[in-house]
Amino acid sequence: MDHEERELILEFFPGTPPELLPLGEILYYRDEEGRVVIREKGPPELSLTLEPLSGGLGHPQVCEACRRHLSGSALGFFRHLVGGSPTHLRYLVLCLDTEGCAGRAEPGRLREILLRGILS
Ligand SMILES: [Zn+2]
Repeated sequence: MDHEERELILEFFPGTPPELLPLGEILYYRDEEGRVVIREKGPPELSLTLEPLSGGLGHPQVCEACRRHLSGSALGFFRHLVGGSPTHLRYLVLCLDTEGCAGRAEPGRLREILLRGILS
């Protein structure tokens, strides 16, 4: 349903920025190399990859995706490029258990994180 709506909008208004399109299906998972991927199904398909940083967090913090308060051992630091620039990096605290986090994170919040990474 959202898929068709997005297609229709882009057909009539090809330059519509992604944040104004109806929310598409959001996928949030770990790839085979342990990176976190946030993907919004298109058109246009939007995707952000976050690289895990080694070393845990020493104290409890809030996961930026599901917004739960968790102990440092359940969370990790991740980073991604902003707008494709190799010198502009953004760091995020996220659950190490991406699957559990995905079940609790709101799609709108995941899209926010995704768009902050791909829009410069
Ligand atoms: Zn989380």
